[in-house]
Amino acid sequence: MTNEINIFSPATVANVSCGFDAMGFALESLGDEMIFKKTDAKEVVISKIEGANLPIEARKNVAGVVAQNMLNDSHADFGLDIQIFKNFKPGSGLGSSAASASGTAFAVNELLGKKYSDLELTKFAMQGEVIACGSAIADNVAAAIYGGFVLIRSYEPLDIVSIPTPDELVATIIHPQIEVKTEDARKVMPSEIPLKTAVSQWANVGGLISGLHAGDFDLIGRSLVDHVAEPARKALIPHFDEVKSASLDAGALGAGISGSGPSIFALSEGMETANKVKEAMNAVYKDSGIDFSIYVSRISTAGARVI
Ligand code: ADP
Repeated sequence: MTNEINIFSPATVANVSCGFDAMGFALESLGDEMIFKKTDAKEVVISKIEGANLPIEARKNVAGVVAQNMLNDSHADFGLDIQIFKNFKPGSGLGSSAASASGTAFAVNELLGKKYSDLELTKFAMQGEVIACGSAIADNVAAAIYGGFVLIRSYEPLDIVSIPTPDELVATIIHPQIEVKTEDARKVMPSEIPLKTAVSQWANVGGLISGLHAGDFDLIGRSLVDHVAEPARKALIPHFDEVKSASLDAGALGAGISGSGPSIFALSEGMETANKVKEAMNAVYKDSGIDFSIYVSRISTAGARVI
């Protein structure tokens, strides 16, 4: 059995406009890299973190927590040394903790000889999310483990549905480097929504899922509408409306808030349009006085993978 493994674990976009708290997708070219080595000492040690200022103490880092829980559950006769290379910033709304949690679940499973299913790995990774954000949310970690688009159909019991991804779908993402506190993003959410709003929202989820299955880009675009979170949260993200309309004018199918922000994602048909969307986002932010990064990426259909 392998004693060492290097993996890539993707950044993820949760919510996907209408799919608030129920959908997510994984990016192909943005994510964490991690190295896992088996050790004789039966403990988990994080020996290196590059690219972000995160707790190195294993029990405070999502990677350490997920690894330890899996070693305990499987009665493993080895320990682990973990190195983490972060390629995007925590707090971006792109599932930074989820990338570490799911990368760990995937890698430890490989070192255990593929003992667990993707659903079980998602459950382990969700325990990492408890450390990062206080609740066991599944949208980012499930997307990072399964790859492509996922639907969290139910939490009790956990039911993850993989949705097919059209090859030509490309994401453009702008990360304005401001802090959106999770607490604030939660506080502004309505506690109740009118029935009419709920009907529009679930109709769009149906449209989005159907559009992804059929590779119907117009339908995907028409369905990328969020009547619930976006109206409440967009005020927390400077120039949100301008970025969204500039992206649509540049040819994007739709755009919305990634996770709870501040990142904004757009989806396009083809790389050429996705790059035009990048230029349009750049034009909105370049004189804003706010630091930002823009990423263009295909959708990762594999999720976390060995490199
Ligand atoms: P976002 O989804 O907006 O990128 P996260 O949900 O990833 O943000 O939140 C990051 C939080 O998780 C930070 O408070 C960070 O300290 C904590 N955390 C603990 N371990 C890790 C890790 N390995 N990678 C990223 N964040 C981690």
